[in-house]
Amino acid sequence: MASERQVSVGGVLIGGGAPVAVQTMTKTETANLAATMDQIHTVAEAGADIVRVAVPRKQDVEALRTIVARSPIPVIADIHFNHTLALEAIEAGAHCVRLNPGNIGGPEKVGEVVELARRRKTPLRVGVNSGSLPKHLRQLEFDDPVQALVSAAVETVELMERLDFFDFKLSMKSTSVPNTIASNRLLSQRIPYPLHLGVTEAGTKWSGSLKSAVGLGTLLADGIGDTIRISLSTFHAEEEVKVAWEILKALKLRERGPVLIACPTCGRLQFDMDTVVAEIERRLEAYEDPIEVSVLGCAVNGIGEARHADFGITGAKDMGMIYSKGEPLKKVPTEQLVDELFKEIDRYYAAGRRVQRDETAAAEAREWLAANEDSTQMTPERMAALEAQAAEQDIAAGALLDSMLHAPPLAAAPAANGAPAGNGAADGSGAAGGSGRTGGDDAPGDERAGSGSNAGKAPLDESVSPVAGRRFKRG
Ligand code: SF4
Repeated sequence: MASERQVSVGGVLIGGGAPVAVQTMTKTETANLAATMDQIHTVAEAGADIVRVAVPRKQDVEALRTIVARSPIPVIADIHFNHTLALEAIEAGAHCVRLNPGNIGGPEKVGEVVELARRRKTPLRVGVNSGSLPKHLRQLEFDDPVQALVSAAVETVELMERLDFFDFKLSMKSTSVPNTIASNRLLSQRIPYPLHLGVTEAGTKWSGSLKSAVGLGTLLADGIGDTIRISLSTFHAEEEVKVAWEILKALKLRERGPVLIACPTCGRLQFDMDTVVAEIERRLEAYEDPIEVSVLGCAVNGIGEARHADFGITGAKDMGMIYSKGEPLKKVPTEQLVDELFKEIDRYYAAGRRVQRDETAAAEAREWLAANEDSTQMTPERMAALEAQAAEQDIAAGALLDSMLHAPPLAAAPAANGAPAGNGAADGSGAAGGSGRTGGDDAPGDERAGSGSNAGKAPLDESVSPVAGRRFKRG
């Protein structure tokens, strides 16, 4: 579960219920100040809350001092093997230092770093990697890699606590997605410290993003994890940031910028949607608001699927339509769809977030939509309408049955005693006699029988129909 403790990395709170922080790592040689600062600005613009830089050499520590001073976001120094560099990074003003106690030269050297970190109030990120577990856990790693990881992490925590140091977050990295999930689930129940999540060496932009989305997404959906880094084999660190944001946005954990919804396309597609979606995605990067924009490849299902979108487009051959919240705004030639969409979005912002609707243009668009959507398809609207129609027929049938049951016989046959047959039901009194089905026979809760009306059967309200608004799934 979410960590109890919290650390502050240069003012960015991590853990203790703070929003999940996005971090990445520069890919440049840290000592190359111009290139490193350039990348830091790029990742900060993409939404990184924190950036980490590798500090493997003396000249990197020297650059670190300037980087910390100039960076728009807090900087973590990434140290391996050399505790002297960790000490120097703290002195250089790093907002946090990352080290794995297992590879820094023993508990005494860890103690030295911790002591300086305490004095300088510098938080640490400590952790374990599946590739470098301590020797005494090697057999366990072979038998039970998840337990081995958790044991190593708990030993690290115990070391920090023995050193009376609590200002740290913890990471437990594995290249295996199932092990990442299982070990972090176990660890989150055992320690109160913030967790840094990541799937180490996840892979290329494509496979690494998917692995990270599955691994980190599963944990985050469980409420586990306080900061994330997506590790991708790309020089463009901002790609890692974008993927991290997509994961957080998908889980509704954080909001940042527009949300683009696009249909997967199929054989009904009649315009170059790939290019259009890419262009819309590119242009949306200029907007900070979490506006929702939908792109439907055709109008086969109407635009009900996009009723939640603030704006959207759908197209067919030469013409397309712009809509807002499921209502047509205007039709435009396909080649102008994207430009016109952004004009509408800009008008919306210029009017203080109010959609600007021209009724004549909207009526033309509605006509176009009616001519282009496929009336045989089961849209949510049509399913709801059919349900309503079925319910009305049901009510009418009930009323007819009622009237037949309770109506006086057209030609009552004289009974043996001379009294007319069936009179017991004729007044709806429920008195027994004659007809065989009376009000008195009605079972409790049978709203139609015996009531003489349809009061108990409310007409279906389409707005609360179980299918209204449901995302239509094709079989
Ligand atoms: S909206 Fe649906 S039917 Fe139309 S192109 Fe996209 S996937 Fe195909």
